[in-house]
Amino acid sequence: MNIILLGPPGAGKGTQARFLVDGRGMVQLSTGDMLREARSSGTEMGRRVAEVMDKGHLVTDEIVIGLIREKIEAGQVGSGIIFDGFPRTLAQADALEALLAEKGMRLDRAVEMRVDDEVLVDRVSGRSTCANCGEVYHDQTKPVPSDGHCSVCSGTKFNRRADDNAESLRTRLMAYYKQTSPLIGYYYAKGILVAVDGLREIPEVAEEVRRVLDRSETVGA
Ligand code: AMP
Repeated sequence: MNIILLGPPGAGKGTQARFLVDGRGMVQLSTGDMLREARSSGTEMGRRVAEVMDKGHLVTDEIVIGLIREKIEAGQVGSGIIFDGFPRTLAQADALEALLAEKGMRLDRAVEMRVDDEVLVDRVSGRSTCANCGEVYHDQTKPVPSDGHCSVCSGTKFNRRADDNAESLRTRLMAYYKQTSPLIGYYYAKGILVAVDGLREIPEVAEEVRRVLDRSETVGA
């Protein structure tokens, strides 16, 4: 089963993707993670995307489609792919469909994670991730353990994203509404849209994601 997690920044896409990787052996393809890796590797592409990302704008379709193509061509598909943060534009959605068709694959579900805009600022401004294993923490709702060790891998280094600030979030939210939210209608029309309430506690959202993936009906079906 290949799926997309759709939702604004802070909706919980990365957190839920980790549950699916651990629980189902799926592979998470996050264009945000790939771009952060590219920027820290100091390549020409990394330098070009860093400024765009920090301001909260989208990088070009060409770059992200190229990154996804590389991963799919490398055959990293596990028991299914979770596209996290991709596609973000209609052009990316069309390119993904063509790319999957080329490989004899298809998308089975687009999971819309519904949240209120008001919670997003709090969610992104308090978050950090373990530099070693990527476990996600939040200052208020899931703080780093008091002994300073990651509860999953015991790592001691935690990163905060340069774009997790109120100003960049506003730009990212605008990019979401202008460029990405039309994908909800796009996948509805394709008959593969499902929706979950992303405002609930993390394990409850995980349970709902599990349910909508196992169920045969989609939104409007
Ligand atoms: P994310 O980790 O998904 O929140 O992405 C962080 C940043 O990377 C975004 O604000 C964009 O600047 C860039 N980015 C990630 N995925 C995409 C994409 N599919 N298309 C364009 N830009 C992207």
